[in-house]
Formats: sequence, C-alpha cells, structure tokens
Amino acid sequence: MFCRIVAGEIPATMVRETPTTLAFRDIDPKAPVHVLVIPKEHYADVATLAQGDSALAGEVLATAAAVAEDEGLLGDGFRLMFNTGTYGGQEVFHAHAHLLGGAPLGPMLARSVA
Ligand SMILES: [Zn+2]
Repeated sequence: MFCRIVAGEIPATMVRETPTTLAFRDIDPKAPVHVLVIPKEHYADVATLAQGDSALAGEVLATAAAVAEDEGLLGDGFRLMFNTGTYGGQEVFHAHAHLLGGAPLGPMLARSVA
C-alpha cells in the first residue's frame, strides 16, 4: 500500500519528500499531528530496514526530525514509533514511523503488559 503511495497511485497529504523518504499525514490521526514517515524503497518493517540499510533508516529518522521541526513539535516534544509485527500492532507491512505530537500523549502503552 505504501509502495503505491510512493508510486503516486494512491493520494496522500504529503508534508515532506526527500530523494529516499516520504512523509504524509495519517488518514486516521490519533493526535493533532500524526505523520507517517517511510523509506521509498520497500522494507517490511523497521528491523529489516535497519539491518538492510542503516543509512536509509537514518534518513527516515532525519526526515521525521525535520517534520517535527516544521510542525512546531520540538519545544513540547513528540513521539516517534515503529509498530513492528503482530505484538507491535503493525498494520501495513512497509516500514513506517508514526510521528505524533501537538498534545500530551500520555503513557507509552495504553495499559501495563508486564
Ligand atoms: Zn512497500
């Protein structure tokens, strides 16, 4: 699905594009700012991305930081997360970071899993 956004076959509200990454707004935002940051090249998840091309993984982080700055999130802070696999709640199997901010986000997890 995200490969189709990269290809321009599915519309998305872009907020930033670099030669290797894309950032666009989540269609179902969970916070006032909810942007997805992806590598244009397909990797199934952040583990395969980081192990397969650590420089590209770094570019995804750099794009996320630039979007956080553009969205005015650096002062109050934000959350950046990669849901991975079944337990991580990953829904789209093209590596993507969720950049969330614009309001207090509460605890990292909805409930204790310990
Ligand atoms: Zn893909």
